[in-house]
Amino acid sequence: MNMFNEALLMNAQRHAQRAPGCGTPQPGAPCLGHVTLVGAGPGDADLLTVKAVRALQSASLVLVDQLVSPEVLSLLPPEAERIDVGKKASHHTLPQDQIIELMLHHARSGRALLRLKGGDGYIFGRGGEEAQALAEAGIPFSVIPGLSAAQGAAASVGIPLTHRDHAGTLIFTTGHLRESRQLDLDWATLARPRQTVVIYMGVGTLPLICAQLIAHGLAARTPAAVVENATRTNERCITGSVAELPGLAVAHNVQAPALIVIGEVVSLRAVLAQTQAPRQG
Ligand code: SAH
Repeated sequence: MNMFNEALLMNAQRHAQRAPGCGTPQPGAPCLGHVTLVGAGPGDADLLTVKAVRALQSASLVLVDQLVSPEVLSLLPPEAERIDVGKKASHHTLPQDQIIELMLHHARSGRALLRLKGGDGYIFGRGGEEAQALAEAGIPFSVIPGLSAAQGAAASVGIPLTHRDHAGTLIFTTGHLRESRQLDLDWATLARPRQTVVIYMGVGTLPLICAQLIAHGLAARTPAAVVENATRTNERCITGSVAELPGLAVAHNVQAPALIVIGEVVSLRAVLAQTQAPRQG
């Protein structure tokens, strides 16, 4: 355990002694808090659910993931205690098991804890693993959904994800390499026509993804897009064919967080983005 992690756990223990949410429990009775898993959406704070805004505004202790936008974080009360568990740039990312440990520790001390995640916690957000751990520990929790990056990006850049003329199937998948360094995707299914494929965490593996899709029969001219920082003020959308996209992403120096969208629906952007009003605020 590094110094940062130790400091987080010591802090948790300090709070355990305080146990503000506990009142005076019966001797021997467990003192349980509550955890709210909140989806913070893709960035634009106006895209939060009303329920998420209420939860943010009344938070006292928050565990925050890396992808939550500063705009969303500004809705937290200034006195709320904030623990950043996903600061990749400073190598402070807590391993998932320690995030869970920290969450359980605070909840067992009787605190009401808000677990804030980018997009929707149940879509590539490890919310499922955290909910399982809470259920196994018998800790009450609730889940507030968020707009996933794909929905935010689709609306913002003018790419409907389904369309009766172009795509009747929608697939969300991930380009993240497994520990084996393999990208173990069902390429034949992903390469089918008349569908939209949205790839999360795929910037690093984009050349491999596009090559595999074409090798499995997807037409090389299929329209594709990469959407960086969707719904944020620095949003960028780059389009080209699936054969061209890896080169375009390098030429434009695309960085995470970015989504890849592949399918005929991407061609609709040419018309929709022209007349769509820009982001407010
Ligand atoms: N739970 C999140 C996904 C987390 S996985 C959700 O539902 O959106 C992290 C990946 O999500 C990033 O690598 C990127 O592919 C995508 N992502 C998250 N926020 C994004 C944004 N604002 N713009 C583009 N992609 C985003």
